[in-house]
Amino acid sequence: MSLESPRASPERSRGVNARITFLGTGTSSGVPSIGCTCAVCLSTDHHDKRLRPSIHVDVPEHVSILVDTSPDLRQQALTYGLTRVDAILFTHSHADHILGLDEIRRFNFMQRSAIPCYATADVWTNIRQTFHYIFDGVPRLGGGIPLIEAHEIQGAFEVGGVRVLPVPLLHGNMPILGFRFGSLAYLTDCSAIPDESWPLVEGVDTLVIDALRDKKHPTHFNVDEALAAIAKIAPRRAYLTHMAHDLGHAQTNARLPARVELAYDGLVLDAIVDAS
Ligand SMILES: [Zn+2]
Ligand SMILES: [Zn+2]
Ligand SMILES: [Zn+2]
Repeated sequence: MSLESPRASPERSRGVNARITFLGTGTSSGVPSIGCTCAVCLSTDHHDKRLRPSIHVDVPEHVSILVDTSPDLRQQALTYGLTRVDAILFTHSHADHILGLDEIRRFNFMQRSAIPCYATADVWTNIRQTFHYIFDGVPRLGGGIPLIEAHEIQGAFEVGGVRVLPVPLLHGNMPILGFRFGSLAYLTDCSAIPDESWPLVEGVDTLVIDALRDKKHPTHFNVDEALAAIAKIAPRRAYLTHMAHDLGHAQTNARLPARVELAYDGLVLDAIVDAS
């Protein structure tokens, strides 16, 4: 495990184009939910099919970054043509954000290398328990194990020359991370933004933020709470993510304010990131 320290110096950084693809925009059980016959789960609108939450941040000629490894990672990679992963960032260690870690074996095989993964010390503790076979050093006959290079997040860092700014959030009482990539911030799984984190998202052009449903929830923003955070941050545009089956795509979009929409699986956004 190596420690990361801030390395980006504004003088030598420049803005480069990035492409953000939503690989999954659903809550932990996904939409449709198993066995559910509600209108959203039965909807034929492809926008209402939500895999578990993850995004791909592609910075051409720099780095291909995966945020979280959802249980749907294999399907997401096949659907969206994800063929290379240079780095993985973890927001937190809930099952819907880490259980696809074993799927990176294909990328190890194709790239012939371990993949640098970035998470806080607490998240590493949990990943080491959940994926004990990656770390226990026991030689295994046959099937391989994911090859990862564990990095502990302790502040802003760079991957492939691209600056990543962690944004501390509260998910219930659990501290987790959002990430800011230049003009775009991805704040999934949050129910509060601590005082010290508001300045970190100041001036973002595009804000992606958790909005589970309309009803209040102990560990996620509901739509009203997400809209209040959006109003305070005042980005040019905002997208809601991590939605449960309570929120139909078309019906919900019809009542959202201007410049706020639900994200959906397959949505692609552009951003300008800081690269050296
Ligand atoms: Zn989640
Ligand atoms: Zn349903
Ligand atoms: Zn969570």
